[in-house]
Amino acid sequence: MGRVQDKVAIVTGAGNGMGRAISQLFAEQGAAVAVTDISEKDGAETVRLIEEAGGKAAFWRLDVSDEAAVESVFGQVADRFGKVDILVNNAGISGVDKPTDQVTEAEWDTVFAVDVKGVFFCTKHAIPHMRRNGKGSIVNLSSIYGLVGSHEMAPYHAAKGAVTIMTKKDAATYGRENIRVNSVHPGTILTPFVREVASRGEGGLRGYLDIMEPKHPIGHVGEPEDVAYAVLFLASDEARFVHGASLTVDGGYTAV
Ligand code: ADP
Repeated sequence: MGRVQDKVAIVTGAGNGMGRAISQLFAEQGAAVAVTDISEKDGAETVRLIEEAGGKAAFWRLDVSDEAAVESVFGQVADRFGKVDILVNNAGISGVDKPTDQVTEAEWDTVFAVDVKGVFFCTKHAIPHMRRNGKGSIVNLSSIYGLVGSHEMAPYHAAKGAVTIMTKKDAATYGRENIRVNSVHPGTILTPFVREVASRGEGGLRGYLDIMEPKHPIGHVGEPEDVAYAVLFLASDEARFVHGASLTVDGGYTAV
């Protein structure tokens, strides 16, 4: 028996990095995974990797900032797999790396459309399916920057802060319906994207790690799988009394 055996899980932004790792782990643990992403190529590759490993998955192209598309795709997932047990709101963009006084309105709106409205639309249209099912679990990918500040990425901080408090608000609203809502707050995670950007910087990947590792009490940075295990726990019935929680996955970065 897997830890999410026979559950149906929708994962947004499942074509890369953490979304892919979450999808692969869920499938390995017995779930049927609705792999959704704005990129058809990346999402299809996630499905290929899952099927190659003997798991169950299907791809839907989905831009989470398009409400009509979210409603339609979630209906199709329920038709195809029979129900919706789990929603992982992972799709996100980090946007411009600027302080508040340098950010344009358009740059702000771009990040909020995906990172905040996307979570809103997906939650809104998952709830009726979970209600029909009598239970559900929603895991929102926020960030350590939805809990603490840093120097740059102003819209991203604000957006992830919104996701942190939406999680607690939705927990207050939907708990009595047996729909749990929690957030995960990754710190420095060595996704393929971060790895590539770091490799191009001065000193390469090693130089990046030499700066980052000492900042982490645990002595190293994270991998996408580290986030996936936290999401798996919250999504599974093992976390049946965990509700409205903010779980950091950051090697102690924000603890000190
Ligand atoms: P991480 O690995 O940190 O989750 P990535 O940027 O690698 O970050 O992955 C985020 C995923 O979200 C990507 O696969 C990307 O295609 C997807 N994505 C970005 N914008 C949207 C959107 N509007 N709707 C759905 N998926 C999106």
